[in-house]
Amino acid sequence: MKYQVFHKLSYGLYLVATELNGKKYGYIGNTAFQVTAEPAQLIISSHKNNFTTAKILESGKFSVSVLQKEVNTSLIGVFGFMTGAEVDKFQHVPTITAVTGAPIVTDSVVAWFDCRVVKSFDVGTHILILGEVLENDILSTEEALTYDYYREKYRMLAPKNAPTYVDKDNLEKEKAPVKIEKPVVIEEDNHDDLEPDENGVYICNICGFRYDPADGDPSMGIAPGTPFKDLPDDYRCPICNAGKEYFRSDD
Ligand code: FE
Repeated sequence: MKYQVFHKLSYGLYLVATELNGKKYGYIGNTAFQVTAEPAQLIISSHKNNFTTAKILESGKFSVSVLQKEVNTSLIGVFGFMTGAEVDKFQHVPTITAVTGAPIVTDSVVAWFDCRVVKSFDVGTHILILGEVLENDILSTEEALTYDYYREKYRMLAPKNAPTYVDKDNLEKEKAPVKIEKPVVIEEDNHDDLEPDENGVYICNICGFRYDPADGDPSMGIAPGTPFKDLPDDYRCPICNAGKEYFRSDD
């Protein structure tokens, strides 16, 4: 079986949230899709290890917020890579509520659905949760984020709890499925002007974010051309919020 074939399936990215006994829970996932029009129903696929999953089943409600294309990356860091068991993900995130009372995140969001749980299906590592849409709305005319765009732009790996998670080693073991012939370009630049190694790319061990000094990190106020060693001590990964100590050199 070829893992890369699964990357040909199209997805968006969604922030799924619920509330139980006055506490809010949520995660970011790429699996939410409409299954019927009458009644309007959605299914989400949620990992059993995901702290939010049990809370959704217990509360019987959840919201799905559709993220916008140019998403606030700290939202992905907090909701995609941290656990609600350890941090209050909603600390700085404003929410609204509709019919069910599930919190609905509106930051970086183009549309939302408010759902009551109809049924759930145990499918092994994940639980499929069927929800009836009781209310929904569009918040902006921005384009919705696709999983493809997200993967391309941030060169991220899916978090381990994602249904689409593939071990990086398995991916790298695979040969390219299709050979695309590109014209050979002979570069005249002999690269004598390349910066020394310490100015290389660093990779976040948590989420796979690549810090390229040439680009800097505008989302965190870091100017292009800033070597990794010159980043402030309190620099954090823009995707998963991990500290500098979680980065390793790409050499
Ligand atoms: Fe990270």
